[in-house]
Amino acid sequence: MFDVQKVRAQFPILSQTVNGKPLVYFDNGATAQKPQVVIDAISKYYSEINANIHRGVHTLSQLATDAYEVSRNTIQTHLNAKYPHEIIFTSGTTQGINLVANGFAAIVKSGDEVMVSALEHHSNIVPWQFLCEKTGAKLVVIPMNDKGELILSEYERLLSDKTKIVAVNHISNALGTVNPVKYIIAKAHKVGAAVLIDGAQATPHLRPDVQDLDCDFYVFSGHKVCGPTGVGILYGKESWLNQLPPYMGGGEMIKEVTFEKTTYADLPHKFEAGTPNIAGGIVLGTAIDYLNEIGFDNIAKYEQELLDYGTKRLLEIEGITIYGTGENKASVISFNIEGIHPYDIGTIIDKLGVAVRTGHHCAQPIMNYFNIPGTIRASFAFYNTKEEIDIFVEAVKKAQLMLS
Ligand SMILES: *Cc1c(COP(=O)(O)O)cnc(C)c1O
Repeated sequence: MFDVQKVRAQFPILSQTVNGKPLVYFDNGATAQKPQVVIDAISKYYSEINANIHRGVHTLSQLATDAYEVSRNTIQTHLNAKYPHEIIFTSGTTQGINLVANGFAAIVKSGDEVMVSALEHHSNIVPWQFLCEKTGAKLVVIPMNDKGELILSEYERLLSDKTKIVAVNHISNALGTVNPVKYIIAKAHKVGAAVLIDGAQATPHLRPDVQDLDCDFYVFSGHKVCGPTGVGILYGKESWLNQLPPYMGGGEMIKEVTFEKTTYADLPHKFEAGTPNIAGGIVLGTAIDYLNEIGFDNIAKYEQELLDYGTKRLLEIEGITIYGTGENKASVISFNIEGIHPYDIGTIIDKLGVAVRTGHHCAQPIMNYFNIPGTIRASFAFYNTKEEIDIFVEAVKKAQLMLS
């Protein structure tokens, strides 16, 4: 049975006070808090086995290498990838997307098309713009409707044999929309396009099955799944990873180096130049194990309750507009209150101990679509409670009174 109080007791930060009030942390879309097992695993790594991986014959180096590879296997199993070498450690979602977009410069030609959606985070827009600038390809955008859902009929109309890659998020960080990625992938494959799924916002809420989705690439960040910052994962199908050129040159990614010619290491090392975030990589496995122990079915069910309750309570507030009202949503509520700047609400409720994000959430095109400067975003995790939602709603009401 899922017991939220038991879960909360595993997160030391949640018992803090902020500005003299109990912390209500609703900024999980930006980064998740860390359970004690993750904090302990970081300390254990540096206290007991710190050494560089893949280089030494000495015992600590072997222990560190083994732990790093165990984590790779954990993530392979978690994503249901076919091979462990399809799992590339990166510094995060942003680097994973840049790695793939950079590699596609060897594939995309002038006149080809690269497709993103109206719902993307800047890190799933800008690297593709770089690619288009470099190659002369055209950036094509799948539009969305007023509910914040992608318009699939338009998507299908825009697809053609010019489309080389489609890059969309699994869940929108700004609105919470869950995109029908399996459908999007199948349609793209019909025209021979590859698909990259930005799973940064999905992986805290669900367990993706990359073989079932049949995506070509799937990226996410450690810090949003209760793991450390500075580490993330790029999953890529073996055939694609073999085809793409390396992203960074350096140590660990080569077979043989002469001044005339360098040959590259096999997967996954070809994409893992230099000393990585070793502790981060190992502890990401700890975080994924932790989430699987709680169980993604429990997480999804409980977060849906929080979403329903939070939506219902917020709608009591006069003058509120919720952005992102699609059928299929994660536990993210983006909203504004008539006549009040989102930043002002965020500042006042912080004084009351409530942490939310305000602004454009790295998704300015979405804000432009709604013609707003930004929103207030409350994003719930499995360790949040309905009591916290009550505190948050009362704080927003208080701020509204003060500001109007
Ligand atoms: C957070 C986020 C990113 C960027 O992740 P980083 O950890 O900053 O690299 C990209 N896309 C989405 C949907 C996100 O939520």
